Amino acid sequence: MAEALETLQRVFGFPAFRGRQAEIVDRLLGGGDALVLMPTGGGKSLCYQLPALLRAGTGIVVSPLIALMQDQVDALLQLGVKAAFLNSSLDAATAMATERRLLAGELDLLYVAPERLLTDRFLGLLDRLAGEERVALFAIDEAHCVSQWGHDFRPEYIQLSILHERYPQVPRIALTATADALTREEIRRRLGLEEAAVFVASFDRPNIRYTVVDRDNPRSQLAAFLAGHRGEAGIVYCLSRKKVDETVAWLQTQGIAALPYHAGLDAETRRAHQQRFVREEGVVMVATIAFGMGIDKPDVRFVAHLDLPKSLEAYYQETGRAGRDFDPAEAWMTYGMNDVVIHRQRIDESAAPEEQKRIERQKLDAMLGYCETAGCRRTLLLRYFGEEHEPCGNCDTCLAPPELWDGTEAARKFMSAALRTGQRFGAGHLIDILRGKHTEKVAQFGHESLPTFGVGADLDEAGWRNIARQLLAAGLLHADAHHYGALKLTDAARPVLKGETTLMLRRQSVRVRGAKKRAAP
Ligand code: ADP
Ligand code: ZN
Repeated sequence: MAEALETLQRVFGFPAFRGRQAEIVDRLLGGGDALVLMPTGGGKSLCYQLPALLRAGTGIVVSPLIALMQDQVDALLQLGVKAAFLNSSLDAATAMATERRLLAGELDLLYVAPERLLTDRFLGLLDRLAGEERVALFAIDEAHCVSQWGHDFRPEYIQLSILHERYPQVPRIALTATADALTREEIRRRLGLEEAAVFVASFDRPNIRYTVVDRDNPRSQLAAFLAGHRGEAGIVYCLSRKKVDETVAWLQTQGIAALPYHAGLDAETRRAHQQRFVREEGVVMVATIAFGMGIDKPDVRFVAHLDLPKSLEAYYQETGRAGRDFDPAEAWMTYGMNDVVIHRQRIDESAAPEEQKRIERQKLDAMLGYCETAGCRRTLLLRYFGEEHEPCGNCDTCLAPPELWDGTEAARKFMSAALRTGQRFGAGHLIDILRGKHTEKVAQFGHESLPTFGVGADLDEAGWRNIARQLLAAGLLHADAHHYGALKLTDAARPVLKGETTLMLRRQSVRVRGAKKRAAP
């Protein structure tokens, strides 16, 4: 290991290993496999770059991120490491030249796109090299791409099991920043890494402050949030292209240097915007989830979500792009009931097998649980990734603990409104009934004659929406996507409805700006 430390200092210019890097390097130098779960910015690359230099032959790095390959190779060349890449961005002559260098033993590291690696041609090259013990290791970066249920699924990744079958003597290291237990198991199983030593770094990002606000006026809420980040770089995530474009247009009228990024823009524009984001100061990128993977910009000060991400993995990855320089950064999100309905609908209507839908629903429920928690958000987030953590003191619920109140009676009123209307209506109409509003729809269905009509006039609309969301998040209600988000009671609702249990609810969080004082909750 003295040699490893010497190389770390001489080639990479780092005085010491970070976290579990030394153990991981050691494992590979000894010929073993490793599965590395480390948050973005944790220093994953070194874990395969260093052993690739120390072992005989070339280290083969599989990466799905073509844009990132170039950057990584450039950085390595600067350090004097002989690195190259092979992907579809190269012309045939350059690719051939790289292959020749590989065969001639002139490369320490070769980055390859998975689809390229799986070609007969490339496997043929590997056969020759491996036969002569000239493959130092295989590194499989962004290994969570193998997970069919994940957000970055790449079908070619599944076929990477071939590396294990064909070259069992070559050590392999799989790396990812996604660490939930499900994905971890899938990586192990699909890549044949049952024997691999697993290295899990802490996923805590202590400098990121987490905040979730109930959405009522997203624009003024966003404006209030951004007012605290003038001149700083950040990312605003939306689920649809349309919303990205609208948000950019609006932010620009507010004097904010906002740029759009989504799959509807041509590659040239996307590249230009990405470059401005990285190079200029204070650019706010408004993006769909297509943006951010592999962007190396350490001083992103905030990540704002205008829509609910579909899972905590996605949320964690997206928010993880903030504060990679370890300075204070914010992860801020607005969330409303409509988000839940839209996601449920997307899942229900997808052509995916039932098993996958079940998992996606579970993931969405965990995401909801995060939004509705009265406890520390970081504790909840890290527990999801298998880590225990004390209340952090750096999230909204730690800084201003939400008050709890006995919501049993209110919940019963809400649920009986749903029951008495045949469980065919969404929250808006049920709230109108509870509040005793004489709307057209109420008249049309004769709902003013219900016993529940007007029994909830003591709470305002936002108060009732808050309750409905918590009932949904607690699994007492279910939004039926086939009926426009009609709210139905689940079995779990029964004890509450019968008055057998008490239901404690979170009082609505204090609003940032333009807040009217409102009736509890
Ligand atoms: P990841 O791939 O996990 O997101 P990187 O490999 O890009 O992380 O590393 C993140 C940053 O940490 C890089 O700037 C890298 O140079 C730096 N780094 C990695 N290992 C060390 C170390 N042992 N000492 C100091 N800096 C390190
Ligand atoms: Zn906290």
